[in-house]
Amino acid sequence: MSLFTAVEMAPRDPILGLNEQFAADTNPAKVNLGVGVYYDDNGKLPLLECVQAAEKQMMEAPKARGYLPIDGIAAYDAAVKGLVFGADSEPVTSGRVATVQCIGGTGGLKVGADFLKHLNPNAKVLISDPSWENHRALFTNAGFTVESYPYYDAATRGINFAGMLAALNAAPAGTIVVLHACCHNPTGYDITAAQWDEVVAAVKANNLVAFLDMAYQGFGYGLAEDGAVIGKFVAAGLNFFVSTSFSKSFSLYGERVGGLSVLCESKEEAGRVLSQLKIVIRTNYSNPPIHGGMVVAMVLDTPELRALWEKELGEMRVRIKAMRQKLVDGLKAAGVKEDMSFITKQIGMFSYSGLSKDQMVRLRNEFGVYGTDTGRMCVAALNSKNIDYVCASIAKVI
Ligand code: PMP
Repeated sequence: MSLFTAVEMAPRDPILGLNEQFAADTNPAKVNLGVGVYYDDNGKLPLLECVQAAEKQMMEAPKARGYLPIDGIAAYDAAVKGLVFGADSEPVTSGRVATVQCIGGTGGLKVGADFLKHLNPNAKVLISDPSWENHRALFTNAGFTVESYPYYDAATRGINFAGMLAALNAAPAGTIVVLHACCHNPTGYDITAAQWDEVVAAVKANNLVAFLDMAYQGFGYGLAEDGAVIGKFVAAGLNFFVSTSFSKSFSLYGERVGGLSVLCESKEEAGRVLSQLKIVIRTNYSNPPIHGGMVVAMVLDTPELRALWEKELGEMRVRIKAMRQKLVDGLKAAGVKEDMSFITKQIGMFSYSGLSKDQMVRLRNEFGVYGTDTGRMCVAALNSKNIDYVCASIAKVI
């Protein structure tokens, strides 16, 4: 009898499970559209030039690695504030944003969730239906009851906005609403600016707590464009949470660079909130790692590197959009009669293709084209070499 006899095998992560299956697939034409990772036109994970330039500078003046402060690199936190709210914005200049460096966007969500659990232990959490798989698990493990608000509408291939709004209006005061700031994962459908206004009004009228997950800033329409939604919550006079991830926008997935920003009423209040966020961090992992944060801070704070980053980010954004168009055109050319132009109305790395589970399984087993059972495909993994094969394969299962 071992201490662990009663330990059950947990279900494996659906996306990582797909990766394992992909790795074992011997089909030479196989294409992995399962994971949320941007690949360049050669199918390679990019190492951005701005990152290489920053790392070169860091190597030329190597530094010893002491502990960072609990809330991370000060210049990094300042840069995150600037990106999220605007460097000259009132929240930043008045000092009422508490920002901490976190271990990826996931870390930002988790630190925020743990803090919220202390603040309002009985609050419910609402996530979109569907949402990034980890949202439910993360908030559940932080001790919350997690429910969902309507979002994707399969029948119209769009958003059930009336349903979403009704759910927000029915939510009790204090409910935490997790919102995808841009580039909704997994559907690729974002609400319009006018609909955001209605969401902000509903959050305010019902005293809800908005938690904006910003994992793809710059992948939609541009850094400022994608960040504009934050300004709407600021203008409404709300206090809210924003998690930031640089995994995709810097192609620094494995460095785990992210953050959490909390907009407070005043500088004094931000100081108190920051002190509590630091306790959450201290008791979980003490303080964040240095390397990724240093790279991002250096790029964001050095005008030439920042310009280079914005150019490289723009190239990733433009390439994804071009692949969406190629997918639509290619499916048509491959004989798909159905109008697939909705794919170009989606934004960000993902497309809800509208394909059924059976079709996705056939794509995988017969053609080695891997997407999730929900029909999600990562359009950022398409390239000029695999696009024709993917289109031909999809055409055969539709
Ligand atoms: N939120 C969403 C919506 C995401 O898609 C992701 C990454 N897949 C994350 C958060 C987590 O980002 P990170 O990898 O930086 O933890």
